Amino acid sequence: MERLATQLLFALFLFFPVPASGAQEPKALPLPDERYKVDILLVVAHPDDEGAATPYLARALDEHKRIAVVFGTRGSSGANEAGAEQAAALGAIREIEARNALIALGVTNVWFLGGKDTASQNVLQSLANWDHGASLEQLVRLVRLTRPEVILTFLPGTFIGEDHGDHQASGLLATEAFDLAGDPTSFPEQLAGPTKRLEPFLENLRPWQPKKMYYFPDADREDIFRGKGPEYSVKEISTSSKQPYWRMALDSFRAHQTQAKSFLDKIAQMDEAQIEKLATSDGGWTDAMHFVLGKSLVGGSVTGDVFDGITPGAIPFARPDVSPEPTRSELAVELGGPYSFYAEFRRAHGLTNLPHPEPPEIALQAPGTLVIPLWIRNRTAKTQEITLSAALPAGWTTQSGTGKFTVAAKQVAATRIEITLPALAENGAKKQEPQEISVHAEWNGQSIGEIKLRVELRKRALPQ
Ligand SMILES: [Zn+2]
Repeated sequence: MERLATQLLFALFLFFPVPASGAQEPKALPLPDERYKVDILLVVAHPDDEGAATPYLARALDEHKRIAVVFGTRGSSGANEAGAEQAAALGAIREIEARNALIALGVTNVWFLGGKDTASQNVLQSLANWDHGASLEQLVRLVRLTRPEVILTFLPGTFIGEDHGDHQASGLLATEAFDLAGDPTSFPEQLAGPTKRLEPFLENLRPWQPKKMYYFPDADREDIFRGKGPEYSVKEISTSSKQPYWRMALDSFRAHQTQAKSFLDKIAQMDEAQIEKLATSDGGWTDAMHFVLGKSLVGGSVTGDVFDGITPGAIPFARPDVSPEPTRSELAVELGGPYSFYAEFRRAHGLTNLPHPEPPEIALQAPGTLVIPLWIRNRTAKTQEITLSAALPAGWTTQSGTGKFTVAAKQVAATRIEITLPALAENGAKKQEPQEISVHAEWNGQSIGEIKLRVELRKRALPQ
C-alpha cells in the first residue's frame, strides 16, 4: 500500500514538476533568538552582588520584564564559610550559587565574563586583572545577544564606601558596552553574516543600542545621589509571591552559602517576625532602592520609573556626546590614577552629570599608606623644575614623593606621594571623620596647582 502511494506521488511529480524559482514559496531567513531578548540586563562584579538589585528585579519580574545577568568574576577569592574549597574551586561553587540565587527569583540567563577577583579599590587594577579587552568584547556580545532596553550596573566612580574596584569595573564595562554595542564598526566580526553553512568565526548578531542605563552607587554617603534617579520601596508586596520584595531578595540570597553560611544558618532558625526584625536592623535589607540615571536616549523623567519613555523596538545607534577637553595651563599638576581617569571617562561617555564627590575621597585602612597618584604635564619647550609639598593632618607623615622634580619639555610624567597613616585608637571608633589633605605644586615660587583629597581612616578597608 505504502509502495503504491509512493509510486503515485512519483507519477504526480512527473506530471506536475516543481514550478520555476520565481513562484517558489519564500524561505524565511533566521531571526535573532527571542528566548534571549531581555528588558533588563544587570551587570555586576561578583556572585552575591546581584543582591544590590534583587528586590527591584523581583518587582520587574512581577511586571513581566525579561531579565538576564552578567557577572564579571566567579568570586574565587575570600573566605569559604561552607567548605574547604578555595580559589578557582571556590569560584566554581560560587558560579552555581549565583545561578541558584537568580533561579530562585526566576532568572535563568546568567553569564560570567571570566574576570579575576581583585582586592583593591583601584578600578584600573581590576580592568588589568579582568583582561579589559576580552571582557568588553564578551559584554558587547552579550548586549547584542540579549538586546536589553535597560542596563543596570554599579556606578563607576571612587567614593568612601565599599568602593570595590571590581564593582566599579563592572559599571565601567557596562557603560562602554552601552556605547559600543550599537556601533556597527565595533567588534564587527560579531555582526557579520555567515560565509558558509557551518560558520566558525562570524556571529551574525545585529548592533543593538540599549535605551537607558541606571547605576547603583557603592558609596556610604547618599546625599549626592538623592533625586538623581528613581527610588523603589522594597516593602511592597509582590503580586506573584505575596511576600515583600525584600523578603524575596533574602530568599534568593540563601543560595550564597560560601559567603554567608553563619548568617543564613541564623535566619534558618528564626520565625518570620524575627527575620523581619533582623532584616530591618541589620544590613539594610529593607532600605529603599535608589538608582542613579546614567543615560537615557529616549527621554523620560530623571526620577520616573526605569521604563519611563521606553517603547518597543530598536532605536538608532547614538554616539555619546563627548564634552570638550578642559583647558590646561602649560605646566600643570593633577591628581592621577582612577581620579583623573574617571574625569576623562565621564567626559568621553557623556556622563558629565554623573554625581562624584568634590574633592575626591577615599577610605583607607590605618595604620597604612596613602598613595596620591599625580600627573605632571609640561607643555612648554623647556625642561621645568617643580616643587611638590603636602599639607597633612596631625600624626600623618610624608614617606616619599615630595621635593623638587624636573619634567622634560613636552612630556607628561607620572609620580606619586606616599603618606604614612597613623593607627586609630585601639578601643576607639571603627572609623574617623574624613580629613582633608592637600598637595601643593610650585614653579619658580608660583603656585601651579593645589590638589585636595578627603581621606577617611578605618580599621578595615580594601587596599587602595
Ligand atoms: Zn562584590
